[in-house]
Amino acid sequence: MSFLDRLFASAMPLVPRPIVRRLSARYIAGENISEALLTGAALQRANYRVTYDILGEAVSNQAGVEATATEYEKLLQALIDQKLERNFSLKPTQMGLDVSEDYCFEMVCRIAQQALAHKAFVRFEMEGSATVDGTLRVFERLLHEKFGGTVGCVLQSMLLRTENDAARLVALDQPLNVRLVKGIYVEPKEIAHQDPTEVNAAYLRVLRVLLDGGAFVAVASHDENLIEGLQEYLQENPKAKSQVEVQMLLGVREELRQQIKASGLPVRVYVPYGTQWYPYVVRRLRKNPKLATYAFTGLFRKREKMDA
Ligand SMILES: Cc1cc2nc3c(=O)[nH]c(=O)nc-3n(C[C@H](O)[C@H](O)[C@H](O)COP(=O)(O)OP(=O)(O)OC[C@H]3O[C@@H](n4cnc5c(N)ncnc54)[C@H](O)[C@@H]3O)c2cc1C
Repeated sequence: MSFLDRLFASAMPLVPRPIVRRLSARYIAGENISEALLTGAALQRANYRVTYDILGEAVSNQAGVEATATEYEKLLQALIDQKLERNFSLKPTQMGLDVSEDYCFEMVCRIAQQALAHKAFVRFEMEGSATVDGTLRVFERLLHEKFGGTVGCVLQSMLLRTENDAARLVALDQPLNVRLVKGIYVEPKEIAHQDPTEVNAAYLRVLRVLLDGGAFVAVASHDENLIEGLQEYLQENPKAKSQVEVQMLLGVREELRQQIKASGLPVRVYVPYGTQWYPYVVRRLRKNPKLATYAFTGLFRKREKMDA
């Protein structure tokens, strides 16, 4: 990654929103349910699995949380009506974790009950390290309430605690479905691996703990090294094939996505949509400095045009 690419990536917030919106077209399915379902249906026709995400983060009041829960209920109903796969992802702070853990549990239970009734699956995502304890406590209560087949969680390999968390979850002896990621939040060295090689090594150790423990694991990554690590595990343990899928973000490394699908591993595509696309897109563009560079080039081109 060149110095210029890095500079542009960190200056993303200065780019005018219309340009960011144009660049983000590949990462988000649109601003409403119908656009998201069109994308999801096309992916399903191409033999991909799909999970939908309504963009938005940190809702600190109950009215906001209720509104988000209602949006998810509408999404579920639309998936049922259109006979599409019923799988979606939601963030703890969208479900009231910042209000209180009990309230968050209540809200996720409300969604989980409907998901259970309609054979849907809900992924309870993971945010910054300050939320991990609360998120896992809510998730463990959901497992205790026998929602293990309906609700899954996310673990981040960059966090030093994650190997212990994985071992504890496996030992609960409930149906367990974990999306394993590197982690997208910037965390201090006291609690998180900083070196990408260590993040990857930890990823493969946690993967093994989870699969050996019988969990279903969604390997959510665009990193060939991790996909190879998964394939090596499956060569040693062919029976574990039914315990895994790969997950990738809409718009990221589509060629690799096709290759993985062609190799026989199921691939689920994460389809985010909604009006609150800005923070999500800026995080993605920062991960892809080439695109950030295009954003700035676009900015200057726009100026040139306006000056002309
Ligand atoms: C389905 C899914 C769900 C996720 N859910 C969460 C979650 O709940 N909590 C959380 O903390 N994190 C989540 N993440 C993000 C994850 O933690 C990583 O930050 C992200 O996936 C990048 O890591 P990587 O494993 O793809 O490896 P990287 O080493 O970052 O990337 C591998 C390769 O993919 C390319 N690449 C990565 N991102 C992009 C991009 N935006 N555009 C173009 N190329 C790109 C890189 O350039 C590199 O070549 C999720 C990721 C996925 C795929």
